[in-house]
Amino acid sequence: MKLKTFTGGIHPPDNKQWSSHKAIEDCPLPAEFVVPMAQHIGAPAVASVEVGQSVSKGQEIGSAKGFVSVPVHAPTSGEVVAVESRPHPWGTSLPAVVIKPDGEDCWSTDLQPGDPGSLTVDEIVEKVRLAGVVGMGGAAFPAHVKMSPPPEKKISTLIFNGVECEPYLTADHRMMLEEPERILQGVALLQYVFGAERVVIGIEANKPDAIALLEKECAGAPVEILSLQVKYPQGAEKQLIAAVTGREVPSGGLPMDIGVAVHNISTAAAVADAVLFGRPLIERVCTVTGPAIREPKNLRIRIGTPLSHLVEVCGGLTEDPGKIVLGGPMMGFTQLDFDVPATRGTSGLLLLRDEDVDRQEEGPCIRCSRCVQACPMHLLPTTIAAYSRRDLLAEASEYCAMDCIECGCCSYVCPATIPLVQAIRYGKAAILAKKRSS
Ligand code: SF4
Ligand code: SF4
Repeated sequence: MKLKTFTGGIHPPDNKQWSSHKAIEDCPLPAEFVVPMAQHIGAPAVASVEVGQSVSKGQEIGSAKGFVSVPVHAPTSGEVVAVESRPHPWGTSLPAVVIKPDGEDCWSTDLQPGDPGSLTVDEIVEKVRLAGVVGMGGAAFPAHVKMSPPPEKKISTLIFNGVECEPYLTADHRMMLEEPERILQGVALLQYVFGAERVVIGIEANKPDAIALLEKECAGAPVEILSLQVKYPQGAEKQLIAAVTGREVPSGGLPMDIGVAVHNISTAAAVADAVLFGRPLIERVCTVTGPAIREPKNLRIRIGTPLSHLVEVCGGLTEDPGKIVLGGPMMGFTQLDFDVPATRGTSGLLLLRDEDVDRQEEGPCIRCSRCVQACPMHLLPTTIAAYSRRDLLAEASEYCAMDCIECGCCSYVCPATIPLVQAIRYGKAAILAKKRSS
């Protein structure tokens, strides 16, 4: 049977063999945590603790500012040794709370377990907000906002994203194999919140063990496990919706406009922790991988762990890395060094050697149209990139620059190595900045 998918996309080597067989290991605590207040889409949190203060694991150390914002919590017990700007994975210095662990790793006594049977939908959503749960597939959009669609936007299909189509990353794969109960507890809670008629967990066909296990765990439950064609970016929200429902989110629209909500499977597990145990999002599974790391691993890391500590726990480097990427090679963020912490959106740390990095000089466009065929959003990447580079923002907008999901397929296939996605990303940022200032 032909597996479902979307149109466009590419087939990069998946390179998951480095870590897909490695069971999740608990990462030892580092000597110091640097917990950024900005870790999510929306307004950053504001530090609510002072230097010298003792904090418990899970205690709120940063308050949310506004609806599209979430609080931030202490990853362990210890002492606040600084509240100051520190280097951030977004490429600048941003406010952070620095904590020296006391070694006790003692939970806050304020965290209360919940009985889902006695909670209303609003109470569940509030527990998720207070726990700081964000989308863990990388986007880090506050989960409580997605869980609060306006009443006229009825959600009939709820999709859980277990695709993990980014090359190298295996954290979600290991979560599905090792912690299916946590995931399915979150799936049930989210199904209750949305009242969706159809619930689907979408998984790429290259994870047959996870598909078989979840099918077994869901036997008799109203949850479909859908095996999807292996293709990048199958896990992007709009492409996953297209594969599962055959419907398209309209240009400039949101999934809820067509009655769909999408959550990552690790987000579902974090929702379960928040609602059932009152536990905030202070840890996640992160794949540390690539040819330049000695022992690739899937680590359960605390938020705020410095990248240098992750490298050390994985046995160090085999050589000076040619590229350091937070996330996967297609949509991750390149880092200059290891002097930044992991955040709630850190699904992976990828270490490439110099020989793995394509450093070819850019050539002229030969009008081959490979970028157009690869674009999963049916855009004209070469046209939008050309307008963006010349600051012709109105023209770039007209060609739907804002619909670009920055998947990088166009750059990947371009034989002239034109940095298309970088140019379009710049154009999108400039369009947004212009909108805000007018
Ligand atoms: S234009 Fe945007 S959406 Fe289309 S392939 Fe390039 S990066 Fe992906
Ligand atoms: S893939 Fe590159 S060379 Fe081919 S049309 Fe697109 S921009 Fe031009």
